[in-house]
Amino acid sequence: MKIGVLALQGAVAEHIEMLSALGTEAIPVRLSSELDGLDALIIPGGESTTIGKLLSDYGLIEPIRKLASQGFPIFGTCAGLVLLARKVPNLQVETISAMDIEVERNAFGRQVDSFETDLQIPALGDGNFHGVFIRAPIIEKAERGVEILCKLNGNPVAVRQGKLLACAFHPELTDDSRFHKYFLDLVNNTTRHSEGAPIASERPKNLSPIKPHKEPGDPSPRITSGLRMTCKGHSGEDVCKK
Ligand code: GLN
Repeated sequence: MKIGVLALQGAVAEHIEMLSALGTEAIPVRLSSELDGLDALIIPGGESTTIGKLLSDYGLIEPIRKLASQGFPIFGTCAGLVLLARKVPNLQVETISAMDIEVERNAFGRQVDSFETDLQIPALGDGNFHGVFIRAPIIEKAERGVEILCKLNGNPVAVRQGKLLACAFHPELTDDSRFHKYFLDLVNNTTRHSEGAPIASERPKNLSPIKPHKEPGDPSPRITSGLRMTCKGHSGEDVCKK
C-alpha cells in the first residue's frame, strides 16, 4: 500500500512518520502526476487558505476532486478537513468540495485558544483519544450519509463519508496511531462500521469556545513533540502564528 501526503504546506512530516511507524509506505505529493499509483491521500493540517491557493496553482483541485468522486480514500486533518468540505462560508479559496459537510474555520478562536482534550471515538475502540486542536474548525452541518465519529460539546469534530475521513484535530501530533490505523483499514476495506448507524444531519447548538479540561501548564504525556511540532522548518509556521 502506498499513501500520499499532500506536501504543499503544513504538518506533512508528522503524517509520513506515523504512517511509516505503521509499516506503510508514505510519500509527499506536490504534483498531480504524483497521485498516480497511490492507494490513498492525506491532506494535512496547516493553513487552509495557503494550501487551497497552492492546490489551485498546482492544478490539483480537479484531479483530487475526481479521485474523491471515484471512491478514492482521502483523510483530511484540520485544514485538510476544511479543504474537503463542500461549504466553508468564511474561506476565500476553492475547496475540493468532496464531503457533504459545512465547516466553520477557527471555530474555537485564535492560536492562543488552541487546546488539548480527551475525546471518545467509539470507532477506535475503548480508551480516550487525545485531541490536539490548533485553531481548529468544527463541522456545523453534516448531511445524510456522513457518519459522525466524534463530537466535542455537541459539535462534530470527526466524520466519515464513504472512504473520505476528516477530523478537526491533529492525530499525527500524538503517539496514538489508532486514527491512522482506522484510515488504513478504510483503505483496505477492513474497517468495521455500520453503513446505516450513527449518521446524523444536525446543526450543533453550542459554538462557544471550549477550554482545555486540564490545568494550564500541564502538558499531556501522550503528545510526542507538542504543538511546536507544526512550527518546525517552514512547513507549519502559519499554523503557529495565526
Ligand atoms: N485554522 C486553520 C485553517 O482554517 C486550520 C488550522 C490547522 O490546520 N491546525 O486553515
